[in-house]
Amino acid sequence: TPPSGAARPRLAFLGTGYLGATYAICFAELGYEVLGFDVDEAKIAKLAGGAVPFHEPGLDELLRRNLAAGRLRFTTEYKETADFADVHFICVGTPQRADGMGADLSYVESAVTGLAQHLTRKALIVGKSTVPVGTAEWIEQLVGKHAPADLGIEVAWSPEFLQEGFAVEDVLRPNRIVIGVKSDWANAMLYASHKGVFDLAATEDREVPLVVTDFATAELVKVAANAFLATKISFINAMAEVCEVAGGDVTMLARSIGYDPRIGNRFLQAGVGFGGGCLPKDIRAFQARAQELGAGEALRFLHEVDLINLRRRTRVLQLAAELLGRRSGPAGPDLSGTRVAVLGATFKPNSDDVRDAPSLAVAALLAKAGADVHVYDPEGMENARAAQPDLTYEPSMNDAVRGADLVCVLTEWADFRNADPVALGELAAGRRVIDGRNCLDSALWTHAGWEYRGMGRP
Ligand code: NAD
Repeated sequence: TPPSGAARPRLAFLGTGYLGATYAICFAELGYEVLGFDVDEAKIAKLAGGAVPFHEPGLDELLRRNLAAGRLRFTTEYKETADFADVHFICVGTPQRADGMGADLSYVESAVTGLAQHLTRKALIVGKSTVPVGTAEWIEQLVGKHAPADLGIEVAWSPEFLQEGFAVEDVLRPNRIVIGVKSDWANAMLYASHKGVFDLAATEDREVPLVVTDFATAELVKVAANAFLATKISFINAMAEVCEVAGGDVTMLARSIGYDPRIGNRFLQAGVGFGGGCLPKDIRAFQARAQELGAGEALRFLHEVDLINLRRRTRVLQLAAELLGRRSGPAGPDLSGTRVAVLGATFKPNSDDVRDAPSLAVAALLAKAGADVHVYDPEGMENARAAQPDLTYEPSMNDAVRGADLVCVLTEWADFRNADPVALGELAAGRRVIDGRNCLDSALWTHAGWEYRGMGRP
């Protein structure tokens, strides 16, 4: 039942990266008055000027429309943010710590303390970043230390499930909203903050399930969902490993088991594995937190999930050596004197995000083995160049393939899926292709004279 009493609150999003900027823009589109805050002045200047600093389909147009309508502004000032909003969503990064396991909460800490010091009236601070369970309680303590006590500032948690590439749709039309709250007031404020989402659903004859729960559950929902998704991918990649030695075809296997609705066919594509700014770091941080809490054994399988995932990257290197007729020594294969085209640098299509991208990791492995690697990606070139400056980047797919002894398709962009193998065959020096995402029509490529290798396929 919707709680009543809260008027339409003014919303601030602290941290305007993939998560926060998308939210700020989409909630302005839903009619809210919104302020986006970030410590990165260049990012804020871009957003305020009408340019989304990353690639996300549909977002540019919504940004410009809502800036023009005056519902959306951006700032680098904590005081302005504190004065403006009733509800403050914390959307800052929570990267992997330098020790490789737990989450780095220093950005959360600085955003919360920076904001809390400037608050002058009652407000709600809502965590949205992905964090270790227990963070909401810790934020309550931080707020207690840094905000004037008489304001009665409250904290809540609302994990985020958006997928890059579908982010606008996922924010406007989420498949659920989960909130962790301690009071009726926080519940009412969060309901009012999402009323635009519920209203949109009602006009489209849909319902958005709302789960109201405690802090710990709300925090755990996110990492549990990511752990499940990572496990599903590593499960099918483990089946790919078995298919490779048994002579089976994992794509047929996945299709066959996926017809069982208890299993389902989504997120069941074997390939070069998962990456990005979320799944890898989240499953490691989840293990580290469980360990701290004394439940390390419960999540030991996630270590295996991680290892299966990373093994897929070396599998591509192994396939490359096989196709190029190179022997592997104790230090791995020697690919010197070969030219390899890597198609795809982002961790998935329709994004420019290269954080922990399997494609770039494989490109680096190939280069380390001595290959002359030429990379092309439709959207991720700038980020890829910054992340891996030593590789060669080409302005088009044709330029990357020209003169290549081997082509590796490592991100399933539509441009690559729909590429003409006959035309590409005329550019390549050798017609050898590794389909790291099992996204090509193998019959078509083979017919065009290519030696084809997929992942977990004969
Ligand atoms: P991002 O790196 O794109 O953005 C983080 C932003 O926070 C940056 O713009 C940075 O400048 C800013 N920032 C750092 N310190 C700040 C401070 N003190 N005050 C204000 N801003 C500050 O990261 P992202 O992908 O948007 O992820 C943010 C969080 O959301 C992470 O916890 C992530 O796990 C989670 N998440 C991300 C996605 C996704 O698809 N990207 C989905 C769900 C959850």
